Amino acid sequence: MALVGGGPALLVHGGAGRVEASGRDDRVAGVVRARDAAWALLEQGATALEAVLEAVRRLEDDPLFNAGTGAALNRDGFAELDAAVMDGEDLGFGAVAAVRDVKNPVLLAAEVLRSEHVLLVGEGASRFARERGIPACDPGELVTERQRRRWSLARRRALEERSGTVGAVALDAAGRLAAATSTGGMVDQRVGRVGDTPLPGAGTYAEAGLGAVSATGHGEYFARALAAYRAAGALRDAPPERAVRTALEAVARLGGAGGLILVDAQGRLAWHHTTPEMSVAWRTQAGEGAQIAPGA
Ligand code: ASP
Repeated sequence: MALVGGGPALLVHGGAGRVEASGRDDRVAGVVRARDAAWALLEQGATALEAVLEAVRRLEDDPLFNAGTGAALNRDGFAELDAAVMDGEDLGFGAVAAVRDVKNPVLLAAEVLRSEHVLLVGEGASRFARERGIPACDPGELVTERQRRRWSLARRRALEERSGTVGAVALDAAGRLAAATSTGGMVDQRVGRVGDTPLPGAGTYAEAGLGAVSATGHGEYFARALAAYRAAGALRDAPPERAVRTALEAVARLGGAGGLILVDAQGRLAWHHTTPEMSVAWRTQAGEGAQIAPGA
């Protein structure tokens, strides 16, 4: 799907995967709330970076999504969180991975962006959070009953459904681009496993003059394909719709599936997914919308 825009423009996703029919409306409502909060900031003159942080922070706090509170649980039954944010203006990148005690990892990723580092992991990321005044949360607060049930099912190998990583891309009124992504990874993942989300160019990418991209799906494949960078780079010779498909084709050639959202430097939006569903909400000067799109 592609939409013609002009800045500001905003596109939010709530993960690619398979969603139970009963949960679809709630997911759409969740991405719409995050979109509206971020759009309100853009209208007040906020930067693209501030807008994507607001959208992703809201989705991290929504227990329905696999990020922050409500994140997927790993093999030992607790959440390890990954998040990244990228500012297209100067290729600034900040990310955290395998964090266990931070309620909003995307805000910690933003602190990393403002530091001399690109990626901090585990215990080191937690210590950095305290240095920056981000309080520790009890890891138990991140665990929802829903994810505990999914985890038990996955352990019995009865669960194939996965979805709920969150992300946002924005172009602000001044033409700046930014992307942010946040996830608890894959349900029942190995302790210490990190996917594509916090890797520059894999799950998250933004570059001035090109576009901003956030990915969701089986992270190992997105990382190997450098999917987010591939989509942004494809904008040099292709329209947005073609660019996201090109990147997902590269992921599919490796055996992976998932989705991508993109805004280009003109404010044109595009998204595509190779999983059964992906929830998205968007807004441009031309209008707004939201859907949990059927698969390609
Ligand atoms: N990409 C995320 C990961 O592999 C998971 C997802 O998007 O569902 O960690």
